Amino acid sequence: MKPFAYTRATNSQSAVDAILRDQTSKFIAGGTNLIDLMKEDIEQPRHLVDINRLELTRIEQFQGGVRLGALAHNSDTANHQLVREHYPLVTQAILAGASAQLRNAATNGGNLMQRTRCYYFYDLAMPCNKREPGSGCGALEGFNRIHAIFGASDQCIATHPSDLCVALVALDAVVNVEGPDGQRSIPFRDFHRLPGTTPEIDTNLKRAELITSIDLPATSSAFARHSYYLKVRDRASYAFALVSVAVALELQDGTIKQARIALGGVAHKPWRVKEAEAVLTGNRPDERTLRRAAEAAMQGARGYQHNRFKIELGKRAIVRAVTVATGEGRAV
Ligand code: SF4
Repeated sequence: MKPFAYTRATNSQSAVDAILRDQTSKFIAGGTNLIDLMKEDIEQPRHLVDINRLELTRIEQFQGGVRLGALAHNSDTANHQLVREHYPLVTQAILAGASAQLRNAATNGGNLMQRTRCYYFYDLAMPCNKREPGSGCGALEGFNRIHAIFGASDQCIATHPSDLCVALVALDAVVNVEGPDGQRSIPFRDFHRLPGTTPEIDTNLKRAELITSIDLPATSSAFARHSYYLKVRDRASYAFALVSVAVALELQDGTIKQARIALGGVAHKPWRVKEAEAVLTGNRPDERTLRRAAEAAMQGARGYQHNRFKIELGKRAIVRAVTVATGEGRAV
């Protein structure tokens, strides 16, 4: 790990100002990903700006929905009464991720900012355009079992590792940020980006912008009774998703009035599948409809040498997750 300076910010403005003073500086909160990256010399900030003293930990009702403070810990968010009651999909997704110890330290804002777990990103001996732009992509011709099947480019086929973010994109959450130009709100679907020719950039945040909160809209609480987060992974805990599915349904007399489906572990960003939602909407969740929705979701998927299994796995995971969400097959 390289030496670095450390500043403890006392308010948002001083945190933003401190970041602006040094191009290599970074915010730090829980540090559950950043410190690992610094130890491995993948991230080399000269200056860390500690934001843990900022008043951004509240979880509260907001405009009929719920506002999650960016510095609320993942465990506190998952177990908060408002979240459990109105957005159980968020609770399930958080509890599917990491370990209890990590969830106790990790923050909501940090969860959005975590970086890919592509093996080659962490291996300094291998080329990686995300770590070192222009060096190549070790995964394209390498062992790409955990990599993307949607939205990849010939520069990067990494996936985003978060579980929480898959639930947030399904629920149309909004990310609130504060930066040098003031405050703004970013729809969750636009927060993360695809790799394109600049895979080193993970999000659409501007320089020195600080995440202050995440809003769960009132309209999404209609899904509370029929939502489910299914995570398929190599072992039962402390593993990242090969494929995950966040499902939220509004059912009326056995018919799906509204549907939300998002996938994790398949793209550089949490992947909303509106094609599948369109198939489900207005129909009863019978086996044929679910299979059609799964097929629609996977249209356009492209596998690589070691990850083609994700296409069929994704279809089956969608069928199972929607089945459980309807309440007809709550097996897990
Ligand atoms: Fe790097 Fe992306 Fe290629 Fe992984 S997939 S080696 S993160 S460029």
